[in-house]
Amino acid sequence: MNVHEYQGKQILKKYGVVVPNGFVAFSPDEAVEAAKKLEGDLWVVKAQIHAGGRGKAGGVKLAKSLDEVRQYADELLGKTLVTHQTGPEGKEVKRLLIEEGLPIEKEYYVGVVIDRSSSRVVMMASEEGGTEIEEVAAKTPEKIFKEVIDPAVGMLPFQARRLAYNIHIPKDKVNKAVKFMLGLYQAFVDNDCSLAEINPLITTRDGRVVALDSKLNFDSNALFRHPDILEMRDLDEEDEKEIEASKYDLNYIALDGNIGCMVNGAGLAMATMDIIKHFDGEPANFLDVGGGATADKVREAFKIILSDKNVKGIFINIFGGIMKCDIIASGVVEAAKQISLDRPLVVRLEGTNVDLGKKILRESGLEIVAADSMEDGAKKIVQLVK
Ligand code: GDP
Ligand code: MN
Repeated sequence: MNVHEYQGKQILKKYGVVVPNGFVAFSPDEAVEAAKKLEGDLWVVKAQIHAGGRGKAGGVKLAKSLDEVRQYADELLGKTLVTHQTGPEGKEVKRLLIEEGLPIEKEYYVGVVIDRSSSRVVMMASEEGGTEIEEVAAKTPEKIFKEVIDPAVGMLPFQARRLAYNIHIPKDKVNKAVKFMLGLYQAFVDNDCSLAEINPLITTRDGRVVALDSKLNFDSNALFRHPDILEMRDLDEEDEKEIEASKYDLNYIALDGNIGCMVNGAGLAMATMDIIKHFDGEPANFLDVGGGATADKVREAFKIILSDKNVKGIFINIFGGIMKCDIIASGVVEAAKQISLDRPLVVRLEGTNVDLGKKILRESGLEIVAADSMEDGAKKIVQLVK
């Protein structure tokens, strides 16, 4: 799960990570009220969406007066912001963060991730802040420094100090940077984050070390022990189909293609997507209905697939082990009765109760293209959506 920048900053603040003073605003009036509460004569009006790259896309504005704060707030609220992370459809701005403008001396990058190869939490830092870290990694990997953290003792001060020196934080600010990094690490661990990225971390001309941006992702499997973080969830930022799927405990992820897939088992779901791509098709989703799915669950899953306007055809690929083919068939027939099935449907069924499953589909009167194998099914659905 992701949270907004301002929510991430609220969390980090509790760990002694310095963030600019600021307030969230949902209207131009609230934006001006927020600015009045902040000292100084420079304000930053920042669009809050679950995507980075806002700066380049015009989602971060510097205002020199309260009138400008209102003008920018007016302009940004309700606007669809397209950044390199939102996809071409963009994201509508519904909240703003109004912050005090800071005198930036230099921008740096600090990120905490879980490194799969070492199975450890790793903190990365670079003096190339503000730009995309992927670009730095590709062009000048020697400018990224890493510290692997031993979970038994946590991040040690010397590791933070080494990072701070490596990225050339000015000597008089090293201690502040160390406190910043240790706080960031603790926030990551305590809250079961999967990613904590500060880009940029800045030093200011008046001697501060501040998180100018924040991006926190949380491990959804650990949210049960963080009700405070779950409360920060913004459903407006999530795919409606994925929200619906989570209500029925379905493993569903929306994708950009036009072939809806219903599969049992994550491995088979991935293989199905691969084989569709192999025959030059594009899957519209990843969907694993799970081993013990009921007909209700299958029906809801089928409805979610059909609710996707991009879906031009559906491929059901079931290998019934624990899952019984007749249950899948009943769920599909029920769903098709409730919402008319107006797109081609290819079904490949194999395994437990396969004959009964095929019979249910045959007698349903639905127009179904039967496939004898996964390969055959993939070929047929790719052909049908063309
Ligand atoms: P992102 O583009 O979505 O990652 O948004 P950021 O929060 O990282 O902001 C983008 C850029 O806006 C930063 O790299 C800064 O250069 C600039 N910026 C943000 N806040 C301030 C501020 O308080 N003062 C100044 N001068 N620039 C700022
Ligand atoms: Mn940023």
